[in-house]
Amino acid sequence: MSPREVEAYQLFMIAEAGIGYVRLHAGPDAGPECLGAHRTVMTIEDAMALAPIPHELGLGRWCRCTYRPVSSAR
Ligand SMILES: [Zn+2]
Repeated sequence: MSPREVEAYQLFMIAEAGIGYVRLHAGPDAGPECLGAHRTVMTIEDAMALAPIPHELGLGRWCRCTYRPVSSAR
């Protein structure tokens, strides 16, 4: 699977668990885009539509931002 497909699969698994929201979490090799998105909360639907992560860091390198399940939007 491509990095984008891996993240889409993670979202699918979170949705299957009945979770409605995710928080973006910047990875250890985070770039400026990652840090800008860090801790952003969005609905599963928005995340699936926008596919905000992973960010392309250039030359086929992808960041390691992840989705964290959120039980409620606060
Ligand atoms: Zn990122």
